[in-house]
Amino acid sequence: MLSVGTPPSRSRQGFRQLSLRHGLLAFMVVVCLLAILATAKEIWSNRATDVHASTLQTTNLVQSLSQQATDSFQTIDGVLIDLVDRAQTDGTGPKQRRRLQDLMVEHIAQLRVLHNLFIVDAAGNGVVNAIPGLKNANYRDRPYFIYHRTHADRTTHIGHTVRSRTDGSWIITVTRRVNHRDGSFAGVAMATISGNYFLHLYEQVDIGRLGSITLALADGTVLMRKPFEKANIGKSLAKASFFRLMLPRSPVGSYQNRSVIDGVSRLFAYQRVSQYPLLVVVGVAEDEALAAWRIQTLINLAELVGMIAIVGILGRYLARQIDKREAAEAQLERLVLIDGLTGLGNRYQFDAVFDREWRRAVRAGTSLAFLMIDADAFKGYNDHYGHQAGDGVLKSIAGCIAAALGRPGDLAARYGGEEFAVFLPDTDAAGAFAVGEAIRRAVLALNIAHAGNVRGTVTVSIGIGRMSPTGATSPFSLVKAADAALYEAKRKGRNRTELATRFVPTLAELIAEPIATAV
Ligand code: GH3
Ligand code: MG
Ligand code: MG
Repeated sequence: MLSVGTPPSRSRQGFRQLSLRHGLLAFMVVVCLLAILATAKEIWSNRATDVHASTLQTTNLVQSLSQQATDSFQTIDGVLIDLVDRAQTDGTGPKQRRRLQDLMVEHIAQLRVLHNLFIVDAAGNGVVNAIPGLKNANYRDRPYFIYHRTHADRTTHIGHTVRSRTDGSWIITVTRRVNHRDGSFAGVAMATISGNYFLHLYEQVDIGRLGSITLALADGTVLMRKPFEKANIGKSLAKASFFRLMLPRSPVGSYQNRSVIDGVSRLFAYQRVSQYPLLVVVGVAEDEALAAWRIQTLINLAELVGMIAIVGILGRYLARQIDKREAAEAQLERLVLIDGLTGLGNRYQFDAVFDREWRRAVRAGTSLAFLMIDADAFKGYNDHYGHQAGDGVLKSIAGCIAAALGRPGDLAARYGGEEFAVFLPDTDAAGAFAVGEAIRRAVLALNIAHAGNVRGTVTVSIGIGRMSPTGATSPFSLVKAADAALYEAKRKGRNRTELATRFVPTLAELIAEPIATAV
């Protein structure tokens, strides 16, 4: 039953409000997604900037340190070349040994990197060294000695880091082959380098608490490493991915990985030393390199969360405003369409629905029934019981009308004064008459005393018009028909329901319901 009615704009308005809420939600989601994207982009670019800065630092550092290693080994090599030359030209007889030792002592005094210098004969016996009084030992089982004895090349050979038998310090051996005049093996000239010299140098370089600097042989064997760990000396870098994948292709490079030595994630840079089989690797711990970035990321994320929270709060506020406006509009709608006294549809609503249903009936070829309900002798009621009591009766009659209507398309409205209109789409004459009678009987059953009325109680008279509208007919003719029937009911003594006699059926109705048209 359509006692409140459905105004033509209602569904459109609902849709608009729905899309307003959806639009708001979509807008919020888009704003939040954009903020998330912008933050992610900023976090990523901040990281890239910090990684780039650290890589630049390690690359510069590795270049300096590899240059330093070249310089140190070149100096030592120069000393060895000189010793080899003297041993080959002058021999290593007792007289020469004294001169050689004087020279060696001078070198040791001048070069801090040097730990000791030796000349070893073809049998592996040490013949002279730089420390006066130090007993010469036999070195024939040492790898460098075996190498030079079995290889004719005159290049510099760098050995692994070992403990000095003299003082227990870490030393690296650098050796060259000494030949007889005929080119046969005459022994080895050896310099031992102080491992501490490199360690001390590396410890002065600030690369953070977890940073590392490694001096290694070209085959990956660690010669010296900061931070110093006894167990790491002699370990191999050969399994590191940079060693396998990058080093064969480029002598310089940078990469990010977990150290194969201590498992710390670092930003590394490596460089192969140009003239010697050496490698320098410098690494800054990722945790330290990205510490500032982490703090900045937390700030960025906090800002993002704050922004999303603000959008959420603002969205909630706006959604509530939409709800309030929706409720206010619905209230306004009610006020515009509803009769204030009876709660039925008002005349405005009636006109709107009547027009819409009339046009629909024309299109569909269906019929419309229209009931005009008028309180009997109501002027007399007012005069006798007062206007306020009259209003109360009108409310009760409206209640009877509303209760009698059952279909969703039915509409009851206050037509004006003490007259009500009921509109029943697609209802036949018998149905409309039954509704009219139900209303009339219900009012009678109210049993409201009305001294001036024929029955002694409040009654209504009802006129029913029915039509199958066509493009040529006017809605007024239906109202007029109902009005005429109402007049007839009044004339016949009131408290009656009368059907209008004039009804023009459609062709379809003539075929479908020949009996109903006979009313
Ligand atoms: P009839 O049986 O012929 O319809 O007699 P009637 O007195 O009802 O006739 P009429 O249509 O001339 O009078 C209508 C009266 O209804 C006039 C007025 O006193 C009363 N009336 C109209 N509107 C209202 C209203 O809003 N409240 C009240 N209490 N009375 C109203
Ligand atoms: Mg009247
Ligand atoms: Mg009346």
